[in-house]
Amino acid sequence: MSRPVIFDLFHTLIHGADEERDRVVGEMAVMVGVAPAELVAAYHATWRDRLVRWDVEETIRILAGRLGGTPTAAQVARAGQHRRALGRRVLESVSTATLDVLDALCANGHPLALISNATSDTSEPWPQSPLARRFDVAIFSCDVGLAKPDPAIYHLAAERLGVEPAECFFVGDGSDGELPGAAAVGMTVFRTTEHNDTDPSWGGPVIHTLGELPAILREPSKVMEPAE
Ligand SMILES: [Mg+2]
Repeated sequence: MSRPVIFDLFHTLIHGADEERDRVVGEMAVMVGVAPAELVAAYHATWRDRLVRWDVEETIRILAGRLGGTPTAAQVARAGQHRRALGRRVLESVSTATLDVLDALCANGHPLALISNATSDTSEPWPQSPLARRFDVAIFSCDVGLAKPDPAIYHLAAERLGVEPAECFFVGDGSDGELPGAAAVGMTVFRTTEHNDTDPSWGGPVIHTLGELPAILREPSKVMEPAE
């Protein structure tokens, strides 16, 4: 069997849409009667809670309340729908080139897994996304109450794949310290800069497009030699 490949999601398989996220949260603020800039700031400040604890509506209720708002259930539901629509849109934005790479890896016998630090507006629409059927395992921080770089979330992915962490490749842009986190549990790590140059401090191998992966993973030792 070819070795499993574990991918990050945002800025690895799809663009992160950071600016669109802020715009949508600003529009949600208007729907629930609080100041857009304040709600955007509150979203950024509470990313950790949103990744591992709160669902979409809880987030809106809690943050609007902190900002002095008293939205009705209908207003919260409407803002939640707006956020979920964004989650679906971002997942559907995956490029044909990326889907082709995943298909090539599957054809080469690599089991595929996802580990994403994500909120529930991403995990809920995942099963309907064009990515989902390519993956044997998909783990979202909001579903398991763990986030990268916690070793436990990498171990969980390996366990669900039925392999040891050291048998896995990990591919990510490097947000949230995910690259050293994956290396710490023994995974073979590749940093991708296709969407974003997130972690230039990473000293290991770098790929510039995911299209390089199928060939590299056939002979990974060639790129694992120390850099000059
Ligand atoms: Mg990422």
